[in-house]
Amino acid sequence: PKRNDSIVPLAATIAAPEVVEKEKVEAEDCEQLAKSLVNASPLEIMDKALEKFGNDIAIAFSGAEDVALIEYARLTGRPFRVFSLDTGRLNPETYQFFDTVEKHYGIRIEYMFPDSVEVQALVRSKGLFSFYEDGHQECCRVRKVRPLRRALKGLRAWITGQRKDQSPGTRSEIPVVQVDPVFEGLDGGIGSLVKWNPVANVDGRDIWNFLRAMNVPVNSLHSQGYISIGCEPCTRPVLPGQHEREGRWWWEDAKAKECGLHKGNIKQEDAAQLNGSG
Ligand code: SF4
Repeated sequence: PKRNDSIVPLAATIAAPEVVEKEKVEAEDCEQLAKSLVNASPLEIMDKALEKFGNDIAIAFSGAEDVALIEYARLTGRPFRVFSLDTGRLNPETYQFFDTVEKHYGIRIEYMFPDSVEVQALVRSKGLFSFYEDGHQECCRVRKVRPLRRALKGLRAWITGQRKDQSPGTRSEIPVVQVDPVFEGLDGGIGSLVKWNPVANVDGRDIWNFLRAMNVPVNSLHSQGYISIGCEPCTRPVLPGQHEREGRWWWEDAKAKECGLHKGNIKQEDAAQLNGSG
């Protein structure tokens, strides 16, 4: 027993600094990369992301204008992976669009589904529309955040369509690449996943110009006035001049309008309100 006593603390003191060191290197790496790519085009950023992470990176595709990410990936000529969260509550138009995108690009989207036991428990106890009564956090946690967490646990990096102009309140400081502040990657622990945001600095209008110029298929909901697209019960069209986030969870306070997928964008005091959604 005496021998064991001396081994355990020694192992502990060796292991701890290694982990910290690795996280620090990743963070410094990302900061350097972000700096070097600050004036890069989305295509250049996408190319760098796919080059660096190969099969360990995937595009998170929501079924909206983030289809631009898939077009950029195609243009790099590199192989790429795409995953989507099928919450079970998407508009029929979005399912149609997923199918169109699969055919257009000759790809299979890797769908992530919620845990059936968790959805069943939520719906049986609170009904199908509990989010209108007590907020969207619980339903989003079950249908989106946990499936996303599972998807990311199999990756070293992911690619999002987040843009600074989407939500001035929560997305104004998004770098083009960062260590994911919320989710874990394949190697486990916060700091083990890199998050790429190739269109962070791009204006929404430029995304649309790009989609038109490249003849990319788009979700037919856009022609019905939808800008932001999410689940059917929680998304509605906006009027001209209204901000796109006004079409999401419109019955809730503006600060709470991150569903947990990008919770790291929310500053400390606001994140407290969302406690448990990640
Ligand atoms: Fe549930 Fe609405 Fe969140 Fe979709 S957006 S997971 S329906 S609360």
